[in-house]
Amino acid sequence: MVNCRRETALTGPRSPIPVHQGFAGSVYCISLPVTIPPDIHDILSRSRGAFVGLAIGDALGAPVEFMTSHEIRAKYGVLRDLVGGGWLRLKPGQVTDDTEMAFCIARALDARQGWDLKGIADNFAAWLRTKPVDVGDTCRRSIRNYMLKGMLETPFNQWDAGNGAAMRMAPVSLFTLGDDDLLSDCAVTQARLTHNHPLSDTACIYLGRLVHLAIQGRSKNRLRREVDRLVAEQPTFGFDTYRGLASGYVVDTMQTVFHHFFRTAGFEECVVATVNQGGDADTTGAIAGMLAGAYYGMEQVPRRWLKRLDPKVLDETTRLAERLLHLSPLFSGLAGSHGTRPLG
Ligand SMILES: [Mg+2]
Repeated sequence: MVNCRRETALTGPRSPIPVHQGFAGSVYCISLPVTIPPDIHDILSRSRGAFVGLAIGDALGAPVEFMTSHEIRAKYGVLRDLVGGGWLRLKPGQVTDDTEMAFCIARALDARQGWDLKGIADNFAAWLRTKPVDVGDTCRRSIRNYMLKGMLETPFNQWDAGNGAAMRMAPVSLFTLGDDDLLSDCAVTQARLTHNHPLSDTACIYLGRLVHLAIQGRSKNRLRREVDRLVAEQPTFGFDTYRGLASGYVVDTMQTVFHHFFRTAGFEECVVATVNQGGDADTTGAIAGMLAGAYYGMEQVPRRWLKRLDPKVLDETTRLAERLLHLSPLFSGLAGSHGTRPLG
């Protein structure tokens, strides 16, 4: 037995469970007394789909960021490929801040093997020092404040209802899978490193819940009921009469993603429809890709997109998705108990 991170000691109706072959060819086993979900392969596929889907949506949408849907139609007909270009002059398959900030979170959690808010903030600061190709104004301001004053929570600001915290929720969703309280804590604390606004907080929590439900194989009707709960709580997120606004305002962003996710029937169809709406297309694409990837799994991500996506990004999203999933309460058997609570 090689590379076993833990000893096998499984309980439950399906044990003993054989060592499972990991996606990257690694062999791992699970040690704690936990009943492994019977659809472990699907959960792994959907977890990878969430993180890879975020990167794919970012790379697909970034070249048409700030364009209107009419301008996109005039230039591309329907944009279906990772073409690069746009105002950022990207290479085909290149990602932007949406994916890079998600990496900052994922790497910190992986390095600490647990929640590490300061580690995330340090990674944000190190990332900003690299002069990234794109960074939102709210994120830049808050990260600079952290660098100058060590603030781990940016003060409330009425203009902080942007989508910059929601766009990086994939790693938080994977890390907290199986514990809704942990999700809420982690979603809000990571969000407030840069964005402090109730609409951003709510969007992050519900997006995380939707990703949790999707990864665990729940139906689209079940996900729709969760969105109905969100709308009951915050009616401004209602999207039954979608106005076609796809801006960086987190309400517009979430409405765009909900509209296209619930009207389409596959990963490609959902992400293509979302980015062709234009506006903040890299981030709407990233969030749609995260949600659709979690729902449909890696099998539905088109091979031509996987081939075109920056290979380092594909490798790291895939690897970190698996590692974060293994840290999650669902896999560790520590749901609601010690070991994975936020540390600060
Ligand atoms: Mg971006």
